[in-house]
Amino acid sequence: MAGLRTVEEALELVLERASRLPAERVSLGDAYGRVVAEPALARVDLPPFPSSAMDGYAVRAEETPGRLPIRGRIAAGSPLAGPLPAGSAAAIATGATVPEGANAVVPVEQTAEVDGQVEIREAPRPHAHIRPRGGDVREGETVVAPGTVLGTPQIGALAAAGVSEVVCARRPQVAVLATGSELVSPGEPLEPGQIYESNGTMVAAVLATAGADVLALPVVRDDEGAHREALAGGLSADVLVTSGGVSMGPHDLVRRVAAELGVEEIFWGVAVKPGKPLSFGVRGSTLVFGLPGNPVSSLVGSLLFVCPALLALQGANVPGPVFDSGRAGRPLRRNPQRDEFVRARRRLDDEEPVLEPVSGQESHMIVRASSADALVHVPRGTDEIAAGDRVRYLRLP
Ligand code: AMP
Ligand code: MG
Repeated sequence: MAGLRTVEEALELVLERASRLPAERVSLGDAYGRVVAEPALARVDLPPFPSSAMDGYAVRAEETPGRLPIRGRIAAGSPLAGPLPAGSAAAIATGATVPEGANAVVPVEQTAEVDGQVEIREAPRPHAHIRPRGGDVREGETVVAPGTVLGTPQIGALAAAGVSEVVCARRPQVAVLATGSELVSPGEPLEPGQIYESNGTMVAAVLATAGADVLALPVVRDDEGAHREALAGGLSADVLVTSGGVSMGPHDLVRRVAAELGVEEIFWGVAVKPGKPLSFGVRGSTLVFGLPGNPVSSLVGSLLFVCPALLALQGANVPGPVFDSGRAGRPLRRNPQRDEFVRARRRLDDEEPVLEPVSGQESHMIVRASSADALVHVPRGTDEIAAGDRVRYLRLP
């Protein structure tokens, strides 16, 4: 594993190989988290008509102050049949159409209604409390640009602008394969020497947050024939992610069998802790990640490399990983050779996140890691990071 790649170099090598997947139409109700492939354009002006921002009275500002007879009550969804008659007011609800002729809405709080007339004490500014047609967006303008990951405001915006379907990149199909003769599914009894399989289930959950359409393959034992069959099946996906079997032991078969099946290894070994023996290769357009078996290594590797690859396959503008900034809660020793990702818990101090490493930082300690909500990046180096120093961190999904 001589000549480890840095995290940045490894990520660049991965992203270079992630070419855009084809696009498909997605109905808006299914589009949360998807990456937009073509501009989504407003179908209408929004608001589609001049609309009242308040419950009140629609008036001609120049006919106030004073008393005006009330000609009509306008509810949302039921516009007046014609213009507002000169010398009158119309009661109007929030979101209702301001009638032609009216140029201001006087909030109900600033009026009094007596005998079918409304008393307007003070003249409103022209256009007061009227939301102009097209004030939010104009028909044909872009609501969401390509490369955007659809979050909650974008979903709301598209619905409001009358867009019922969005052209998005297809979700990447990701085959997830846990390797290891010692692995048993939770729920089964453990025989001597066995442990419960956790990486496959965890990695599937991590990758789903980046849009993966996960195909969980059955666990494969450390046997060449079994590996060959399982890997060959997984290679028909857009991405194959294995866990375990990428170190130097006699039972570590993944890389060798993958090579026999035509996978070109791009790198093996990243200067990262945990997760050093991570491998990455390609066969045709299929990306192949070999995550190390220790559960925390699998978690870190999938967040640092696989999730960004999935977002890049979908054409996301920022495939990430996107770091936040906070302060170290404790001194952090640096590793001279490898960037470290320390499991930590965030607390707020003066509105600022402070990251407290959790106890138990070994790469097999997934239960200790489960009290963390962040991975603090400790760049390789020799000096210590002092408590209170600024650090960057990834949120654990
Ligand atoms: P390996 O990389 O296959 O040598 O695995 C390294 C360590 O991770 C060993 O202790 C394995 O038992 C453990 N391990 C490997 N795969 C899994 C898995 N899917 N779930 C839980 N632990 C695993
Ligand atoms: Mg193994």
